[in-house]
Amino acid sequence: MRISAIETVRVDAFPNLTFVQVHTDEGITGLGETFYGAEAVEAHLHAIAAPALIGEDPLQIERHAQRLAGYVGYTGSGVETRARSAIDLALWDILGKVSGQPVYNLLGGRTRDSIDIYNTCAGSAYVNSATGQAVSNWGLKTGRYEDLEAAINRPGELATELLSQGITGMKIWPFDRFAEASGGTSISARDMGAALAPIRHIRDSVGDSMAVMVEMHSLWDVPTARRIASALEEYDPFWIEDPVRSDLRSGLARVAERTSIRVAAGETVAGLAGFEALLHEGGIGAATVDTTWSGGLTTAKHVAALSAAHGVPVAPHDCTGPVALSACTHLAVAAPNALLQETVRAGYLGWYSSLTLGGPIIDGGSIRPSDDPGLGIELAPGLRNRDGTHVRVTGMVGTTDRSGSADHVRDDLFQAHS
Ligand SMILES: [Mg+2]
Repeated sequence: MRISAIETVRVDAFPNLTFVQVHTDEGITGLGETFYGAEAVEAHLHAIAAPALIGEDPLQIERHAQRLAGYVGYTGSGVETRARSAIDLALWDILGKVSGQPVYNLLGGRTRDSIDIYNTCAGSAYVNSATGQAVSNWGLKTGRYEDLEAAINRPGELATELLSQGITGMKIWPFDRFAEASGGTSISARDMGAALAPIRHIRDSVGDSMAVMVEMHSLWDVPTARRIASALEEYDPFWIEDPVRSDLRSGLARVAERTSIRVAAGETVAGLAGFEALLHEGGIGAATVDTTWSGGLTTAKHVAALSAAHGVPVAPHDCTGPVALSACTHLAVAAPNALLQETVRAGYLGWYSSLTLGGPIIDGGSIRPSDDPGLGIELAPGLRNRDGTHVRVTGMVGTTDRSGSADHVRDDLFQAHS
């Protein structure tokens, strides 16, 4: 079997998402995904990845992971890494379809049938423009599963609702707006009180029955992150996440050593060497590896093993797209040291179904992967035909050279060969 084409699919309504389909000459197609900078990722996939992959055996996943890492751009979660992460997911999907096995079996089999989830309290439009992780890109709306708005305005009520659904963990980021105001260099007593208020409301409403993760989005300097951790102690949060940037490893360690709260980090870190440094020097208590930013499932499974050797669990990151969640879930049921799986209700109960079919099954407060061969998720039928969808193909699909771009591709023509 040979790789015959690389196809990217972007949708205007979700400008950070890139889907990639790896086509083969035997008609099996694998689906991958990454998030942020979709047009740049698309350009890299067609200019650099496609020439390297077309004609190659798609089952040589580890080899392709090494080759695509390249000479530059391999150490961080930049365009090169995000692009090869998306390819890697698609190659695992192909391996699963060829072997007739769900990806979790190819990772060594399940160590658990399902894993507990926590709800990241983002809404349906969270970080849904190209401007990145910022308060201005929160996309606040009101309505069903608009959990960021609820976390701000009625956190106790939201905690009660999540518990009634069986979800026992929730992540919020009440400090972000104050970080942006000071550049992360200080927080006033008044702002500290305002940021702590939602956590106090959650405790007042549901007591200790809800695990609260406090996301800090790498916005703070070390002294201020330590102050915040100290102020949080009395509320016993489950973890603080990314209190400082993950490349400030001694800074992370200085935060971690002064608090009894677990420090989670790693979602923006790439590669095994990146995680070795984070685990060895950063003193983290959970590795939040992202399958679509770190180098793919290939890297993430190595990271899980490496974390185990450091006595640290993995808690795969997901606040991006539906294929990422599928890939995470296969890893999370296979890795013996998986702690929790991140999820977003606004995604899995909302917009994911406008883009994809299938994916993991969420039952109350736990998630399990699809048992279908591969990742168990496909693009929604007709997605390529919609207004605002941009399809670009490099290579041959079936017997047809499909190289080129189109705002639509007729599925009937396309799928006749795929
Ligand atoms: Mg995070």
